Amino acid sequence: MAKEFEIINQYFSFSKKDQPSYESQSDTSDVLLGIGDDAAVILSGRKIIVATDTLVEGVHFTKAMSARNIASRAVATNLSDFAAMGANPKWITLSLTLPELDEGWLKGFSERLELLCERYNLSLIGGDTTKGAFVITLTVMGEPWDVDYSLLLRSNANLNDDIWLSGYTGCAAAGLSLLKSSSIKENVSKESEWLISQYYEPEPRLLLAKQLREFHCAAIDISDGLLADANHIAEQSRVSLCINGEDLPVHSFLKSLANYKNLILAGGDDYELLFTANARYREQIKALSTDELPITLIGKVQKGKGVKLSGHDWMFPKDLGYQHF
Ligand code: ADP
Ligand code: MG
Repeated sequence: MAKEFEIINQYFSFSKKDQPSYESQSDTSDVLLGIGDDAAVILSGRKIIVATDTLVEGVHFTKAMSARNIASRAVATNLSDFAAMGANPKWITLSLTLPELDEGWLKGFSERLELLCERYNLSLIGGDTTKGAFVITLTVMGEPWDVDYSLLLRSNANLNDDIWLSGYTGCAAAGLSLLKSSSIKENVSKESEWLISQYYEPEPRLLLAKQLREFHCAAIDISDGLLADANHIAEQSRVSLCINGEDLPVHSFLKSLANYKNLILAGGDDYELLFTANARYREQIKALSTDELPITLIGKVQKGKGVKLSGHDWMFPKDLGYQHF
């Protein structure tokens, strides 16, 4: 048998055991046909939402990163897109292009993927396995949580809406720069370890997003940097997002860093949610804030274009966020 099929059978067939046979047309599973045929068949009576993310070696991960951490980031970045839509992720496909057959890597990657599929109730229903430059593409498909609520579109922001942020920004970027600095190898402090974990294991804000559906929010997940991503809402809603730097939450582990303001504004890889909502929902949204996941009011939607930043000593950084080209 070709190695490719052995890889699929050994490492990526973990969702198959839950699936009924195609003929039985069971209504207990929405996967009518999973891995093994030419294509998968899923059953849905709702709108289907699809998001895809590609991780390229040298750009999104390095050889030094463990297979488990790579799997975590691949899943988290995709699920974060679903959070930003206010949607329910259900099915995934995985395209793996590997430079070589590394059993240890495949074991670590597939074990973490299986764990995350269980945690987030996802079925791995297909994919592709090829040899070549190291690239991982994950596609997630899902549905709205329920038929009545609309999605959290970037174009939903209205004049005078409040602007909110979940959690903290800048921590993952601080973690990444620690990983890149050579001095980190020994005696990693608790703080550094936590910052690094924010880069490796971002938490997609699916549950928060599910609770936001009734507030008709515009939302985006912060992957490229707070200001860069805020600009996407501004453009698509044809408004200006006015953010007050003094209202931005500063994580206590960042305060000692000289460049913490730049990290907060443009760091990226946070996978927190930036969202807008009418001020009449303010108390309800504040009530969603917890010690573990604070939700902070950081500005107002106003007439105009783009993002405006106010606050004493808060300025636009030179590089607003990661750009591929
Ligand atoms: P084809 O030759 O038609 O492209 P493949 O041989 O690539 O089919 O794949 C065989 C089956 O295994 C398909 O159901 C496909 O979706 C699945 N598959 C292939 N690679 C993966 C993977 N990395 N993860 C999950 N499923 C996979
Ligand atoms: Mg194929």
